[in-house]
Amino acid sequence: MDPLLARRVALVTGAGSGIGRATALLFAREGADVGALDVREAAAEETAVAVRSLGRRAVALAADVSRADEVARAVAEASAALGHIDILVNNAGITRDATIRRMSEEDWDLVVDVHLKGTFLCTRAVAPRMRDAGRGGAIVNISSISAKVGNIGQANYAAAKAGIVALTKVTAREYARYGVRANAIQPGLIDTPMARALGEQRLAEAAAATPLGRVGRPEEVASVALFLASDLASFVTGAVIEVTGGRHM
Ligand code: NAD
Repeated sequence: MDPLLARRVALVTGAGSGIGRATALLFAREGADVGALDVREAAAEETAVAVRSLGRRAVALAADVSRADEVARAVAEASAALGHIDILVNNAGITRDATIRRMSEEDWDLVVDVHLKGTFLCTRAVAPRMRDAGRGGAIVNISSISAKVGNIGQANYAAAKAGIVALTKVTAREYARYGVRANAIQPGLIDTPMARALGEQRLAEAAAATPLGRVGRPEEVASVALFLASDLASFVTGAVIEVTGGRHM
């Protein structure tokens, strides 16, 4: 049997760490060539090297997803190097937590720009290419359970992640006729550098409050992204899947 992503090319943003790196590597194991995009050039390169060591083609793309010019350049570079783009995973992200009273306008703008505008800019750059190539396609947007719960201290992040859910549904409707599906994942707490910044105590509390009794692993989000990106999900579009170990159900 062919691997799930044989002959596909995936562009993964935020591919230099955590969920993005796990996704890039799992996709490569399942046969995909990978454009590894990250604002940290060395991290993108590290992921690209790891993908190549799995026998797939990879290109490292240094770009800030919140900058239209950088996104356009990176997408053109990925298409030129790898031929086309069949899968886009909008995963790049940051946090700048503070309660509403203490949150600066700069931190609001930064977080909303990276998550929500970044997802829009990458979708705008890639989806029309998928339409023109006539090969269909799959877009997987990484939202967060924070969008559903509204975590204290995450006004910027939760609002951006909720916006990503709406953007996913618009994308799904606009591109369905071209065979391009768009879905979102809402992870709970996943053990990555972003989550570790919360500190040991918060991680332990989160694990205790989770029915499955632990925080998640990046590979456990990557495997849901793989499902959504593959033909296994051929009748799934506009959907939002929670990957939370049962927390916040
Ligand atoms: P991470 O910090 O390990 O990785 C994020 C990556 O995104 C980094 O390599 C970083 O350099 C890159 N990045 C940041 N800003 C960028 C920009 N402007 N342009 C391009 N790349 C940029 O974090 P992670 O936990 O793997 O998070 C990945 C995604 O999953 C994020 O969207 C995050 O919001 C989401 N998420 C994470 C958790 C969690 O608990 N870890 C939970 C829910 C959702």
